[in-house]
Amino acid sequence: MNQPQDTIPLEAKSPFELRVNLSADMPETDVRTALATGEMGFLHSFTTGSTVDGPGVRVVGWTTGCQFRCLYCHNPDTWNMSNGIPVALARATEELRKYRQGLKVMLGGFTLSGGEPLMQDRFVVKLLAAAKELGIHTALDTNGALGARLSDADLKHVDLVLLDLKSWSPELHRRLTGMEVGPVLDFAQRLAACRIPIWVRFVLVPGLTDDPENIAQIAKFSADLGNVERVDVLPFHQMGRFKWKELKLNYSLEDIQPPSIEAVERACAQFSTVGLKTY
Ligand code: SF4
Repeated sequence: MNQPQDTIPLEAKSPFELRVNLSADMPETDVRTALATGEMGFLHSFTTGSTVDGPGVRVVGWTTGCQFRCLYCHNPDTWNMSNGIPVALARATEELRKYRQGLKVMLGGFTLSGGEPLMQDRFVVKLLAAAKELGIHTALDTNGALGARLSDADLKHVDLVLLDLKSWSPELHRRLTGMEVGPVLDFAQRLAACRIPIWVRFVLVPGLTDDPENIAQIAKFSADLGNVERVDVLPFHQMGRFKWKELKLNYSLEDIQPPSIEAVERACAQFSTVGLKTY
């Protein structure tokens, strides 16, 4: 018999835990209602103690559901929403309440990541609003393509956006993710107009995203926005490879090695040249 969903622990040691089919039994009408009302979301897990997903020490909620299919995705078990635990908004809010004091002391906050959180935009807005009510700093880690789902009022609950810029070239973006880059860039410009700070995340994948011209264009675009506080150059790694295997997905980056320290430094230098802070 399946474990009752409200007893499945929300906490995971890391998002690298493989989780599948945790809401596969849920009737489709209930899923639709959850998505429309935002009273329930689908989460891979909550993790604590992150120092890389926004300022200070963070609690991170990992949502399930993503419309991208990035070749280097290290959490493909978050692609399907039905792999996540159905979690009532009230339960997720209570979970955050537990950490409220600690997060304040550690100058941290709550980050919603995924998957792509905006696949569940109503739940995301309600949970971020609840976090703000608790006095918790909020960050949204997104591929940006569904940013148009958020109204200006929704965006008021977001203190920081961690925006993945994967490629400047539309053709390469399509090859890397299966989706168009245009809506991502539009969302970045809208965040700039709303003066919401962005941390750009750029995954450096040898042979795919490391073309200096590609990096230069992303750097120029980011610098011109005026609201980019920092750029995280994330070296490609193979930590998620086992998930592709477990899920019987075709992993095409088997032979790609992580970039050298020099290559990471070169990419960082391209962002620094246009006046951006890199990490
Ligand atoms: S956007 Fe993120 S979660 Fe979605 S496929 Fe790409 S890397 Fe994976």
